[in-house]
Amino acid sequence: MDNQSTTRVDPRVLEVMLPYFSEQYGNTGSTSHVFGWDAKKAVDEARHFVATALGATDREIVFTSGATESNNLALRGVAERQRRRGNHLVSVATEHKAILDPLARLSRRGYEITLLPVVPAGSPRAGCLDLERVADAIRDDTVLVSVMLANNEIGVVQQLEQIGKLCKERGVLLHTDATQAVGKIGVNVEELQVDLMSFSAHKIYGPKGVGALYVRRRAPQVRLESLIEGGGQEAGRRSGTLNVSGIVGLATALRLCLDELTDESQRLFGLRQQLHDGLKTNIDDMVLNGPSLDSSAMRLPGNLNCSFTYVDGEALMMSMGDLAVSSGSACTSANPEPSHVLRALGLGDDQSRASLRFGLGRFNTTEEVDFAVEIVAEAVRRLRRMSSMA
Ligand code: PMP
Repeated sequence: MDNQSTTRVDPRVLEVMLPYFSEQYGNTGSTSHVFGWDAKKAVDEARHFVATALGATDREIVFTSGATESNNLALRGVAERQRRRGNHLVSVATEHKAILDPLARLSRRGYEITLLPVVPAGSPRAGCLDLERVADAIRDDTVLVSVMLANNEIGVVQQLEQIGKLCKERGVLLHTDATQAVGKIGVNVEELQVDLMSFSAHKIYGPKGVGALYVRRRAPQVRLESLIEGGGQEAGRRSGTLNVSGIVGLATALRLCLDELTDESQRLFGLRQQLHDGLKTNIDDMVLNGPSLDSSAMRLPGNLNCSFTYVDGEALMMSMGDLAVSSGSACTSANPEPSHVLRALGLGDDQSRASLRFGLGRFNTTEEVDFAVEIVAEAVRRLRRMSSMA
């Protein structure tokens, strides 16, 4: 139940990928033989599918090694290219480290960064970014605003259309980290009015190590400095031999998610409610972190994040051997600090440490949810008994 961290490759995705490791293993850059032509055809088709599905055109999709690289390319690529126009970037305190760390690096190199706060805990809109905050932060020297579409810890979905409209009016580029949103909710770059968008295959039952960056080509044409130089692939924006099997896997994974999106989000919505209600009934002093569960527009259907007062999340995870969940974000779990996202909601360190993130996904069942409730309730009771004895 840690599907916000990563997902199992769907067997249907794997099946489509396999021939590209063995029979059709060509390099898309080989123009003189059939292996190269086949590989190029596969990538062209995948690119066309991904672009069309997200409201983009083929040449606006740059394949990368994943959302971390896409985020770095968007932020550093735009900032470096536009330095003469301005050196101010705006983002949000609850972003993923793959946004916050490149911004910190830019800041060390003389850029000015504004990180906006979100609606604090206690509101049904906890974690939402208010439009006025963005409006007030944009200055004449702002070159880029970056706001994630869906948060990986608390599942909050930002109202990006309004932010997109505002950025257009003010002549500032808008990037979104849509890694947790693409394939799970409807995402269209025209409707959202974003200029750059990052996403990744392994969050949507595709392989790890492949993702993409959408880069707008018209009205306005976004220009980037590339991070990786070499063979000039992806129109010079990202050199390196294309990961053909991965790209085919990304497109297939996205196709399956979109084909099944309506039914699957209903199903996950139901499973999440079952999980929440089961935990609430069996455990006292449980607090929901992030926005209300009632609105599907405001929260990813499979995400649940709760604090269990008086217990330590790490200790809790350790005592639930058969259940895979996460405390805070797995991507930062090398770092024992309490989650920066929960902190940004105004939670104290104790409550942040007492939290678990559940990410329900395609392969979870109602039986598993019942099982998870039992395990968590039992572990919380045991830890609370131990701490009250201490
Ligand atoms: N952004 C968000 C919101 C994420 O959840 C993740 C994965 N944890 C990433 C970026 C990084 O993606 P990748 O693993 O593809 O580099």
